[in-house]
Amino acid sequence: MSTIAHLIDGERFIGEGRRADVFNPSTGEVSAQLVLADAATLKKAIASAQAAYPAWRNTPPAKRAQVMFRFKQLLEENQDAIAELISLEHGKTLEDAVGELKRGIENVEYACAAPEILKGEHSRDVGPGVDAWSEFQPLGVVAGITPFNFPAMVPLWMYPLAIVCGNCFILKPSERDPSSTLLIAELLHKAGLPKGVLNVVNGDKEAVDALIAAPEVKALSFVGSTPIAEYIYVEGGRRGKRVQALGGAKNHAVLLPDADLNNAVSALMGAAYGSCGERCMAISVVVCVGDAIADALLDKLVPQIRALKVGPGTSRGLDMGPLVTSAARDRVLGYIDAGVAAGAELVVDGRGYKVAGHDKGYFVGGTLFDHVKSDMSIYTDEIFGPVLCVVRVASLEEAMELINAHEYGNGTCIFTRDGEAARLFCDEIEVGMVGVNVPLPVPVAYHSFGGWKRSLFGDLHAYGPDGVRFYTRRKAITQRWPKRQTHEAAQFAFPSNG
Ligand code: NAD
Repeated sequence: MSTIAHLIDGERFIGEGRRADVFNPSTGEVSAQLVLADAATLKKAIASAQAAYPAWRNTPPAKRAQVMFRFKQLLEENQDAIAELISLEHGKTLEDAVGELKRGIENVEYACAAPEILKGEHSRDVGPGVDAWSEFQPLGVVAGITPFNFPAMVPLWMYPLAIVCGNCFILKPSERDPSSTLLIAELLHKAGLPKGVLNVVNGDKEAVDALIAAPEVKALSFVGSTPIAEYIYVEGGRRGKRVQALGGAKNHAVLLPDADLNNAVSALMGAAYGSCGERCMAISVVVCVGDAIADALLDKLVPQIRALKVGPGTSRGLDMGPLVTSAARDRVLGYIDAGVAAGAELVVDGRGYKVAGHDKGYFVGGTLFDHVKSDMSIYTDEIFGPVLCVVRVASLEEAMELINAHEYGNGTCIFTRDGEAARLFCDEIEVGMVGVNVPLPVPVAYHSFGGWKRSLFGDLHAYGPDGVRFYTRRKAITQRWPKRQTHEAAQFAFPSNG
């Protein structure tokens, strides 16, 4: 049985600490043992990052960016090995794992522009002979805590940008699927990153709490479920840290009667059942405006859900793999039971789904509920599984009221050919990321990612321009060099151009 260690000072480090099993969700077997960091390991990682900081901070941004150029190339060369590790521990299909990695690489590409994004702003002659500029300075040692569902992409949202901004970074990935994250961090060292600039510490709550408590850690980026996001935001903020904490979601798609139905069905299939519904941008509710479009949707959707190809993620040509853990599977099954008990119509039942030769895998088949009401737990809660709920309403206004009343506001989309309706939706929907005929409107790396309401705690979104702001602090410098031999008398009025 292999032991998965930490990566500190550019090297694998085991140290002391409790151990946790890592599973292959397609077979239910333990694939490795993970060492969970104790206080001494955290101390070592923080000391390593602090030691690396002065030299890294003074490394020119163009040189920092050169590391990212080489990193991008190594990620592309190792794409298949990374995807295989993601798929083995997470369960998602290989094609889906490659997709996640590619979206992660976009963030490395953005970080390659470090000299451009850190240029700052300059104003000449803000007063007689006085110049002023604002520059972006790094924060120091910063940390990221990431979820299981994107073990490659979400860490890549964080540390490439934090690092090119001149910070040193401590990453605490998910304890469910740490191997691809570690391999990627090793590739960054192969690309020439000095030791200590990125340390990866595996662990659970104990490690996270140590990062929150450490005064040396100046900022925390978190992505995960809403209760933990709120905890980290409150506890980090209480200690004066800068925190961005991205939480859970319940993403609605609105289907208007004039939508291109065939394309909407394809989009919904991918967005609801891709990655077994374990995406924070997964569509889990379709709000149909009118019974006619709801009935037409079900006619097309149901046979496609029944035909979903489900199996071990590492096999080619599948639509969906297993859920990540037995606990995740049991939770999803519990929600399906609750939906039936609450009176929703279970149109396709994914319970009891069997994959030949994989009896112990954590599989649940694609599931569809119709006539879902807003007080049912299958509507209010994030299920994080392959369960799609159909809600029927009478108008676009009613659909929007429903979405705006939900506690989450991560992503949403509308399917329509009506530009006026789409514009109204974009203007007035209280959700951070909106798609028009685009089911998963995950912003590209040069925009920023973030939800509204209880899907994000903090002011700045992740990556892109907001990411640069998050990982830097502004300094405004005003400068004057008086001409030699000149002397000005003291001024007691507040200096102005008036
Ligand atoms: P999670 O909240 O259980 O875990 C996320 C991280 O927090 C992990 O590193 C974990 O070790 C740590 N953690 C767990 N419990 C903790 C505790 N009590 N104290 C301190 N740290 C703790 O989330 P998950 O199950 O790994 O991921 C799924 C969730 O993440 C879903 O809710 C999903 O919507 C959300 N998510 C959100 C986004 C987004 O961008 N908004 C992106 C991906 C995932």
